[in-house]
Amino acid sequence: MNTAEAKQRVREEIERLTPRLLEVSHSIHANPELNFEEHHAHEVLTGVLEDEGLPVERGAYDMPTAFDARAGADGPTIAICCEYDALPGIGHACGHNVIAAAGLGAGLAAARVAEEMGGRVAILGTPAEEGGGGKEFMIRRGAFDDVDAAMMVHPADHDLERMHAIAIHTMTVEYEGRAAHAAAAPEEGLNALDAAVLGYTNVAALRQHIRPDERIHGIFTHAGDKPNIVPAHAAAYWYVRSPDLQRLEPLKARVLACLESGATAAGCSMQHQWRDPPFYDMVDNSPLLDLYVRNAAEVGRVVQPEDPEHRVVGSTDMGNVSYVVPAIHPMIKVAPEGVSIHTPDFEVHAASEAADRAVVDGALAMALTAVDCWGDGESLDAIRGAFEATQ
Ligand SMILES: [Zn+2]
Ligand SMILES: [Zn+2]
Repeated sequence: MNTAEAKQRVREEIERLTPRLLEVSHSIHANPELNFEEHHAHEVLTGVLEDEGLPVERGAYDMPTAFDARAGADGPTIAICCEYDALPGIGHACGHNVIAAAGLGAGLAAARVAEEMGGRVAILGTPAEEGGGGKEFMIRRGAFDDVDAAMMVHPADHDLERMHAIAIHTMTVEYEGRAAHAAAAPEEGLNALDAAVLGYTNVAALRQHIRPDERIHGIFTHAGDKPNIVPAHAAAYWYVRSPDLQRLEPLKARVLACLESGATAAGCSMQHQWRDPPFYDMVDNSPLLDLYVRNAAEVGRVVQPEDPEHRVVGSTDMGNVSYVVPAIHPMIKVAPEGVSIHTPDFEVHAASEAADRAVVDGALAMALTAVDCWGDGESLDAIRGAFEATQ
C-alpha cells in the first residue's frame, strides 16, 4: 500500500467512525471526572477500542484509568495521546473530551493501515493531565520506551502550532509554631501564620526581580483556627514556573529561601515538599509539526505559529513526553477567539458543533501525519535528527 492509498483509507475510516467519535466526545463531556478518577472515560474509550478489534490493556502502567492499545506488527511506533480528565467545578473547561475523541479516531484510523504501511501505532490513555502528571508516570513505567514519535491535539480558541507550555514544579509548605492565648499570653506564642505571611511577602518582593516569563503563585491552605489562638500551624501551596527546566531549578531555590526566611523571622519551623512529578516545558519537534500543519491544511485548517496576540500559556505533562521522544502538542480551534481554556464559557464550547468538527479534523490530521511518518524513511529521519539536536 502506498502513502496515497493509505491516506484515502484513513479518510474513509474517519468518516465511518465519526458518529462514534462524537458520541464519545459528548459522553465524556457530560460526565466530567477529576485526576485519576476518570473511570467513565476509561470505560468508554477502551470499550470502543475493543469493539474495533484492538487489544487493549486496561488500567495500564499501575494506574486504574490509564490504557494502552497497540496495532501493527513491526516498524516505527507512532503514539497518540488521549487525555480525558476534567477540572473541579467547571467540568471539561479544558476540552479534554475533544483530545480523547480525536486521539481515539486518529489511533483507530492509523491502526487500519499500520500493518500494510510497515508501522505500529500506540493509542495511550494518559490520565490526570490537570496536575497529576499521568504521562510522567507512564514514561517512568515504560509506555514510551519503543515510541518513535508522539502527538495529540488540544482544544483552544485558535488553530495554533503549539502551546506555550512552560516548566512547573509545585510545592506544599507546612509551618509549625506554638499556640498561646492571643490576648492573655501572646508572648508565649510562635505564630505560624506570621511565618507564612512573611514568606508570602518575601516572594512578592522577589517577583519584581525575576524574568518576565517566569511565574510564581501561591495560596494559603491553612491559616489558623480561631483569632484568639496564636496559630500553631499554617500551610501554603505554591506553583513555580519557568520557561524551561534548567531555569526552573535556580528559581525554585530562590522561592524556598524567601519562605524559609519568613519562618525564621517568626521563630517557626518549616517543612516543604516538592510534589511529584514536575511538568517539563514542551519541546516541539519541527519536522513532525510541519507534517501535521500540512495535513491540517488539507482538512481545511490554517494552523498558525504563536505570536504575542495568539498564544496559550500553561503547562502540560506532554512536555515531559517531549523530553523522551519527538512530540507535538498543536492547539485546535473549538471556541470563538478570546474564549480561553479553564473558563465556564470554554466548557460550553467543548461540546459545540465547532468542537465536533475539531474532533473529526484533529483525528484525520493526526492519522494522516502518522501515515506520513511511516510512508518514507526521510520524514522519520528528519524527526529523529531534530529530536537529537535538542538533547
Ligand atoms: Zn487544562
Ligand atoms: Zn488541557
